[in-house]
Amino acid sequence: MNAAIDWRTEASRISFRDKAFIGGRFVASAAGETFDNISPIDGRVLAKIAAGDAEDIDRAVKAARSAFEAGVWADQAPKARKRILVKLAELIQKHANELALLETLDMGKPILNARNGDMRAVAECVRWYGETIDKIYDEIAPTPKTALALITREPLGVVGAVVPWNFPLLMAAWKFAPALAAGNSVVLKPAEQSPLSALRVAELALEAGVPPGVFNVVPGFGESAGQALGRHMDVDALAFTGSTEVGKLFLKYSAESNMKIVGLECGGKTPNIVFADAPDLETAAQGAADGIFYNSGQVCDAASRLIVEDKIHDVFLAKVAALAKSYAPGDPLDEKTQMGSMVDATQTKRVLGFIEKGKAEGAALALGGRQVRQETGGFYIEPTIFDRVENRMTIAREEIFGPVLSTIVFKTPEEAVKLANDSKYGLEANLWTNDLTKAHRIARALRVGTVTINSRDGGGIEVPFGGYKQSGFGRDKSLHALDKYTQLKTTYISIG
Ligand code: NDP
Repeated sequence: MNAAIDWRTEASRISFRDKAFIGGRFVASAAGETFDNISPIDGRVLAKIAAGDAEDIDRAVKAARSAFEAGVWADQAPKARKRILVKLAELIQKHANELALLETLDMGKPILNARNGDMRAVAECVRWYGETIDKIYDEIAPTPKTALALITREPLGVVGAVVPWNFPLLMAAWKFAPALAAGNSVVLKPAEQSPLSALRVAELALEAGVPPGVFNVVPGFGESAGQALGRHMDVDALAFTGSTEVGKLFLKYSAESNMKIVGLECGGKTPNIVFADAPDLETAAQGAADGIFYNSGQVCDAASRLIVEDKIHDVFLAKVAALAKSYAPGDPLDEKTQMGSMVDATQTKRVLGFIEKGKAEGAALALGGRQVRQETGGFYIEPTIFDRVENRMTIAREEIFGPVLSTIVFKTPEEAVKLANDSKYGLEANLWTNDLTKAHRIARALRVGTVTINSRDGGGIEVPFGGYKQSGFGRDKSLHALDKYTQLKTTYISIG
């Protein structure tokens, strides 16, 4: 479909939005500060982006609040908001090549993943919440005849969203689409590594008919802009995706400010449990490889712990290692590339640090482990597999967020469940077996928000996604996400 596109030429022509988007306009940061937006493909500075701080966040929150109070969005009929969000989804589809390119240049994922994976999912997400919002009914409670109790869902007001760089626009859309559909105003802070697509989409939202002030984007650093949003006294809810460490900070910010509602989608250490009776070991091996190498392993539910039954360990690991070869890092702008760069130098160093730690703690390096393509000026790491990992080792416990697989063996189903649950995280688990009873029993025993069986596919926008334990709370996607962006009002009328 995109075979004719010369992405390098397109990249040389593209223009970047480099200012904050507040009140329906692009504006410089109040202090006039900027930061370098570096492409991890080759280390080149793409643009100097407005570095928002507390003052810019305050301007954006004021714009969002005044749009909310004026009712220009919140008071529109759900059907009218639907029309505008569907239009936005169409604009995202129309500009999918441009948005995909921004994503690839910004964070180094392969262009076809950005184009055919991320952008399709973003458009689908925005369309789904648009289509949904005029189909949700409120409730009447079962009171005595002498009363009428209405239970209505209302928007919260101003929603702040702080998102990461691994799926920059998709993680943003999982927040802003349901928040806007419900009638809220939004202030979004993208990750400093990847602000470009969010800034462009804010502009498209205006074009679609989202009124000025309803959707604002303030790029900047976490410790300044992110913290200011988390601590703002006039923000009603804060939706976050990122590390568990920073997720915890948002709880603190809320407690120390106005007790705003906080929704957290944090880290993961997905156990991928493979039994000898898996329906097809080839498919399971492909799932294991995709699960850890897709997006360079920078995925919150990356299948980073391969928990494999002892008796198939050798043959299964050989299959995964063979498949890993197709993930040799390449130019993200080449359509044949399956694995691009890491997001930046810091993340590269962090992942290489974990690889060294794995070796030092006694795990066996079975594949990869090195930084490659340094001549490009970019940041690339080989697909890496550790064998004979013990679940107590650092590489089995910490969210590495890189293409690094830890292989752990088990002998019994009970042992597999114990290993899987022995983690502070609980975002997702994958399970491969032909035994239906065993599959259901284990799915029940796993302390995670999503269990996938005989596939890595955990479903689209129609299913909820979120964590148990320190993977966070609250759900993105599906109708359940609307719980984060609405509150219930009881109106009790005496009619006796
Ligand atoms: P962070 O959790 O630090 O970043 C996520 C978002 O939070 C970014 O927008 C960031 O802004 C912001 N942020 C950072 N510090 C603060 C703060 N003190 N107050 C308010 N907001 C803040 O992830 P990193 O980019 O630092 O990545 C580090 C590790 O986190 C990764 O290696 C990975 O393990 C994990 N991670 C997990 C993700 C997931 O989806 N589970 C996603 C991203 C990271 P800014 O970018 O400007 O710092």
